[in-house]
Amino acid sequence: MFDHLSDRLAETFKRLKGHGKLTEQNIADAMREVRLALLEADVNYKVVKDFISQVKKRAVGQEVMRSITPAQMVIKIVHDELCTLMGKEGEPLVLTGKSPLVYMMVGLQGAGKTTTSAKLALNLKKRGKKPFLVPADVQRPAAIEQLKRLGKQVDVPVFDTDPGQDPVDICIASLADAARAECDVLILDTAGRLHVDEALMAQLKAIKERLHPQEALLVADSMTGQDAVNVAQSFHQSLGLTGVVLTKVEGDARGGAAISIRAVVDVPIKFLGVGEKLDALEVFHPDRLANRILG
Ligand code: GDP
Repeated sequence: MFDHLSDRLAETFKRLKGHGKLTEQNIADAMREVRLALLEADVNYKVVKDFISQVKKRAVGQEVMRSITPAQMVIKIVHDELCTLMGKEGEPLVLTGKSPLVYMMVGLQGAGKTTTSAKLALNLKKRGKKPFLVPADVQRPAAIEQLKRLGKQVDVPVFDTDPGQDPVDICIASLADAARAECDVLILDTAGRLHVDEALMAQLKAIKERLHPQEALLVADSMTGQDAVNVAQSFHQSLGLTGVVLTKVEGDARGGAAISIRAVVDVPIKFLGVGEKLDALEVFHPDRLANRILG
């Protein structure tokens, strides 16, 4: 991930280091290159504009001009601003509240929602929680079987969904089964569609209103770049998200969605999906990602 962006930034900063003392022109030239590199990485143009203006404001200040290693200072400013853009500390999952906690997984078909539900169950199990998986996608009967199979792999119970039932009723009915199984986190794998549509949103809103989830997590495919950002915006406007899980990050050479989502939609990325295997889920740390981008 970010291979191209990393290489471009490394070149820019190498040139900057070659200057010794920096003039405003050197910094302006470097910022032009950083701007292009970010745009090529498919970062939202408005985000890039604000980012560059913020970095410039700090980089032409006394702090850099007086420093003995000015290029290093510029790199540090870019690093800090990248962290700010992506959400500084990162936001953890809500793990406290009335039992069972309810996490609602939403997203478009193919984004990786069902897989991520199972990955999250495994992650929670490792943290000492007792998750319960609920297939609530009756549009795609194969999704129910898929979640049952994944549940077996991670050894987490899966609700025996009746595909003839309404998804809201399925979610409500699963509460009693989760309690019987002494589970403390419900993970609802809701229906997806190829595109955001009214019927899908109405169904998700109904589930949200009845189940009051602590987390409404959008699972979005990082490879779709700015489309993932637009999808996040639609879901957030209609539903109110608490976080995003960005999937297929390991195959995304550009990384624009990871850099833009927080700034455009104001919803934190909470996890990254980094592979098809069920343990390929990483907690999102903006500073680690900034380090990865800056090499
Ligand atoms: P859903 O329609 O949103 O429920 O999507 P699925 O969970 O069925 O996933 C669609 C495809 O994406 C499957 O082949 C998954 O194995 C794959 N997938 C999910 N997450 C990741 C990821 O982080 N990396 C990669 N490479 N593949 C993923």
